[in-house]
Amino acid sequence: MRVYILSRNKKLYSTRRLVEAAEQRGWDVRVIDYLKCSIEIMKGELKISYMGEELPLPDAIIPRIGASRTFYGTAMVRHFEIMGSFSTSGNLAIARSRDKLRSLQVLSKKGVDMPKTIFASNKSSAKDVIALSGGAPLVLKILEGTQGVGVVLVDSEKAAKSVLDAFYGMEVNLLVQEYIEEAGGADIRALVVNGKVVGAMKRQGAEGDFRSNLHQGGSATAHKLTRKERATAIAAAKAMGLGVCGVDMIPSDRGPLVMEVNSSPGLEGIEKSTGIDIAGKIMDYIAENATAQSDTVGKR
Ligand code: ADP
Repeated sequence: MRVYILSRNKKLYSTRRLVEAAEQRGWDVRVIDYLKCSIEIMKGELKISYMGEELPLPDAIIPRIGASRTFYGTAMVRHFEIMGSFSTSGNLAIARSRDKLRSLQVLSKKGVDMPKTIFASNKSSAKDVIALSGGAPLVLKILEGTQGVGVVLVDSEKAAKSVLDAFYGMEVNLLVQEYIEEAGGADIRALVVNGKVVGAMKRQGAEGDFRSNLHQGGSATAHKLTRKERATAIAAAKAMGLGVCGVDMIPSDRGPLVMEVNSSPGLEGIEKSTGIDIAGKIMDYIAENATAQSDTVGKR
């Protein structure tokens, strides 16, 4: 089995673990920095080269595309897919998952629960938007933010109006969300591979922070999912069409609410807190689904 891990950094825990798991199976594995790939497109012929070398077509790719390089990364993933490689996450699904608003629209349609969310342009009045959201306290999220940056809790209506006016004045795209206080700064991350939950952890925000992101000082422990949490995680992964993903949910009085579905979930927190070989589960998924590609340089 020939597998490429599309990652910008060989040294990252997740990348190293994926390499290790592939090597344990005796597979031919390479880390490919997708920003150093170039593609050739001609009638009936697609090629991809890496720092000047034409790449043999892999049986499978594992995309680990950085949020800031979605356009370029998904173009490379698409190229491999069209040429015939199996991808643990399809390019369309990755692109869809990167847009928080679009993700919520898709999840809503599939009956997945989430905090009530309002999106409006800067031509709307802040007062109307606040009224639609149900009033303060509320959470504002910059659409382009990741890892908890750009997620703000606003306590009062007055503060909400000034912050909204400021963001709208700067033409920032913003989601306005009902605040789920009973989540208590905790969230649940379920790792879904091929429609099954393979591990779950609970992340607790740093003291005094309502955000549970590990990048914001949160801590992780293994978590046993309730039946409803498991069903929600699986439904969210299915709705987004992702073969491998991390589903973030917050607990609420009306059940688990999905925050987002991450198409390049980090493996460190989840493997270390649960002791589960998640990288190995991803390889098993590949073994079940990839069909051997020819050994020659790929022309499709
Ligand atoms: P990011 O994509 O930047 O991680 P999220 O939307 O996942 O942003 O929000 C970061 C964290 O903030 C969540 O994991 C959760 O702990 C907390 N949070 C986000 N939205 C809400 C909300 N509506 N109510 C309560 N807590 C929230």
